Amino acid sequence: MFKSSIPLGRIAGVPVGAHWSVLVIMVLLTELLAIRVLAPAVPGQPAWVYWAVAAGTAVTFMASLLAHEVTHALVGRHFRLRTKRITLWLLGGAAEFDAEPPTPKADALVALSGPLTSLVLGGVCYGLAEVAARLGFSWLLVTALAWLAFTNGVLAAFNLLPATPLDGGRVLRAVVWKRTGDREHGVSAAARSGRFVGGGLVVLGVLPMLYGRFDLLLMAFVGWFIMTAASTESVPGQLSGLRVADVMTPDPVVAPGWWTVHAFLDRVAANSPHRVFPVVSFEGKATGLVSLGELTRVPPDARSRTRIDKACRQLAAAPSAHPDDRLDKVAFGASPRLGRDLILVVLDERVVGVISPNDIARAIELRALDQPVRRNIPG
Ligand SMILES: [Zn+2]
Repeated sequence: MFKSSIPLGRIAGVPVGAHWSVLVIMVLLTELLAIRVLAPAVPGQPAWVYWAVAAGTAVTFMASLLAHEVTHALVGRHFRLRTKRITLWLLGGAAEFDAEPPTPKADALVALSGPLTSLVLGGVCYGLAEVAARLGFSWLLVTALAWLAFTNGVLAAFNLLPATPLDGGRVLRAVVWKRTGDREHGVSAAARSGRFVGGGLVVLGVLPMLYGRFDLLLMAFVGWFIMTAASTESVPGQLSGLRVADVMTPDPVVAPGWWTVHAFLDRVAANSPHRVFPVVSFEGKATGLVSLGELTRVPPDARSRTRIDKACRQLAAAPSAHPDDRLDKVAFGASPRLGRDLILVVLDERVVGVISPNDIARAIELRALDQPVRRNIPG
């Protein structure tokens, strides 16, 4: 979901990026603040003053969103979860962990820490607004601080809705997990609740449109997003009990790393239905992953002198798994893209199989049809 983000640097060692939609939101927020909030509250100022204060307030709001996510990351780190990245986007932020919290308590604390930060920041802004008002600072500043207090409060409340993928959904997951002793029960309860809450928001947002009111359109959109995300979140539940070896395609067609791109295209890729290939060394060890899409970046005249192992993704950058790994963890963590990624199944440094997004989809569909999930046909 967040592959195409603009890098913004690192905070506490965690890479931070912004999805392009953040730019849109910043512009909309600035406009909303300048025209609908600041100008009516403090009339008679030059236009540029409204816009400057509005822009500063919008940036501060983004910073408080970031603080929310960084808290998730730091509390996660306390429970030995590594945050792969933090991405700011249209509806707030997301901290992506490399694994799931180990216990219900960790799950709940990591989830609660974000809204708590928003709540505290809201309180601080409220206090600052009070002080600024008493000390006779400009009402523009007081209004901006009051808006920040209100918005952080709303952010905390919204994120506590018991709906996957919001923080409240994770809290619900943790509670059910604790009660039943089974994490999967928690996952499906939170996903069900997510579809329900999301559906409710869609209805509340769409109904006023029948009367010609469109101001809750954003809420309908958010509801729709929650419904969709809740449906994908339950995917790992549908894969529970399966191992990587159950769904992998064994003995896949490989790209010999010491071959040239030209030889590989001519002798292997042209005769294969696949688009992504594991790369192996002369000794047969797994060294990386290459897709036809990546090879298009090698200029035609360089194909006969560029080796595959120079044009491919190195092993460290390719998703890989052990045949005995749990499929739900692997599929959830790697989320491979069709035609671009494969999960390499590596045993003793050798590629013994691959898992494509198709293999994962097939396993989920067979499960839904109550059929046993067997290995794919070799190839
Ligand atoms: Zn959060």
